[in-house]
Amino acid sequence: PVDAGAVLAGAARHFPDRVAVRDGARTLTFAQLHERALRFARGLHEHGIAPGDTVLLLVPNCLWFPVSYWGALYAGCVVSPANPALPPAALAAQLTDSGARAVVAHPASLASAYAADAAVPHLTVAVPAGEEAPPAPEGRTVVDAGSLLRHGVAERAVRRPDDLAHLAYTGGTTGRSKAVRVLHRNLLANVAQVAWARGAARTVVVDGVLGAEQDKERATARHHAPGTATTLSVAPLFHAMGLVGLVGNTLVGTTVVLCTRFDPERFLADAAEHEVSWLNGSPAMYRSLLAAPSAAGCRLESVTNVVSGAAPIDPETVRRLGAMFPNALITEGYGLTEATMGLTLHPVDDAAGTPPGSVGLPVPDTELSIRDLLDPERELPPGETGEVWARGPQITDGYHGKVDLTADQFRDGWLRTGDVGHLDERGFLFLSGRAKDMLIYKGYNVYPLPLEDLLAGHPAVAAAAVIGVPHPEAGEIPAAYVVLRPAATASAEELMAYVADRVAPYQRVRELHFVAALPVSAAGKILKTELRAQRAELGT
Ligand code: ATP
Repeated sequence: PVDAGAVLAGAARHFPDRVAVRDGARTLTFAQLHERALRFARGLHEHGIAPGDTVLLLVPNCLWFPVSYWGALYAGCVVSPANPALPPAALAAQLTDSGARAVVAHPASLASAYAADAAVPHLTVAVPAGEEAPPAPEGRTVVDAGSLLRHGVAERAVRRPDDLAHLAYTGGTTGRSKAVRVLHRNLLANVAQVAWARGAARTVVVDGVLGAEQDKERATARHHAPGTATTLSVAPLFHAMGLVGLVGNTLVGTTVVLCTRFDPERFLADAAEHEVSWLNGSPAMYRSLLAAPSAAGCRLESVTNVVSGAAPIDPETVRRLGAMFPNALITEGYGLTEATMGLTLHPVDDAAGTPPGSVGLPVPDTELSIRDLLDPERELPPGETGEVWARGPQITDGYHGKVDLTADQFRDGWLRTGDVGHLDERGFLFLSGRAKDMLIYKGYNVYPLPLEDLLAGHPAVAAAAVIGVPHPEAGEIPAAYVVLRPAATASAEELMAYVADRVAPYQRVRELHFVAALPVSAAGKILKTELRAQRAELGT
């Protein structure tokens, strides 16, 4: 058996001199990353951190992220990545909840880390970044990450498949974020499933070394042989899509170009300079790229694969991405932290046989089942809408410290995703939205997602979100929040009529507000909780 650390160890054997990660002009090859991770592991051990301890990472997308991530795994530790921009109270909650014994923090996050962690004794590792670090509180053990590397290399601590690899916090889109117990076998299964679904590679273990080799039968011109692609990862590494993406890219020897913050200008420069072949991001990121003035009329020929995930992507954004990346296969992935990351992955392309609006077929070894919303024991036939349940080796071990919630959401190997949708006769999954976002208008179930897609298809609209708002007669009505494209004009009546012409009467948008921007989470999801809160405060 192999553990998740074997992914980098294998890449260092197969592709030692290839660039593993790049941040601006700075790079680390797979061999250098492997060596630094062994040193980081030794440094943690020297400071009393033992296999099985939890290490919290408060590091943005920079070279220190992969070094500390793999270093902690090589030390046999459980990694808990957190958003470096977390305010002190939220960070304090994650520190306490995860029981972290070490915190690795960027200078910009140190003040929060110091303010938050007074009650929890642990080691702080400060990542150097050319910024002055705030003074450490008295009695706190703080070591510089650079000095941590000077103790020499560790013997890699190999874990068992059932050991914990990550305590991964969910995006917190629908409420308080929860820590998911991702086991080594979940992580290994999901990166292998994604590599295989991409058709590029299947995983192999030769002489005890994990690696990926090209699956000749499934490979197409757009699928790169292991060790040849470069991906630009804008998804934050502290979130499932970015992190599991990093491990998956390491498995197939792909160079990852890191971006701390999505900036269309830097993106276009990086994509051109480093011959980027893959893009990995959320629809919010792609929309902001398409809206950037510098991107107007831009065609990037080197890009062969564009992957979108974490939130629904509308057909108009897909069409515009196709124009910007004429050689790219556009693929959509659907997943959630509770499933390590990925459940489906499929080209959003008619030529690939994907029906429009579908998030695709499940990745290998994954079963999907649609359950009656009121009677979850009842499985629904194709075409009928209910809650999406999923089963497979990537389904995690449940929530950390939450026995009742785990028993409710994880049942006999099945995960209740909280998403609503249906399957077609061929097994393609169509999502209607989250169960929590569904609204009931005069007794009819209304899902925001199709309404948002319709609005996004209007030429004047850049982005749209629909929420249910209480109404004295109807119970709830759909209310839309719309961002117009620069220089575009449209009235609320015109847009509501546009939707009304295309849906059943009970689905009509009954209220429409124009806003400058929609609240979006760090993972690229529209925060409807915030729209509802703003509305409760302002009355609109
Ligand atoms: P919380 O559970 O704390 O509210 P969260 O649901 O945002 O946070 P994540 O695991 O980050 O936690 O997000 C998973 C959810 O994102 C899925 O359940 C689904 O609603 C949504 N999602 C992911 N990919 C897609 C996609 N391709 N299309 C539509 N929705 C998606």
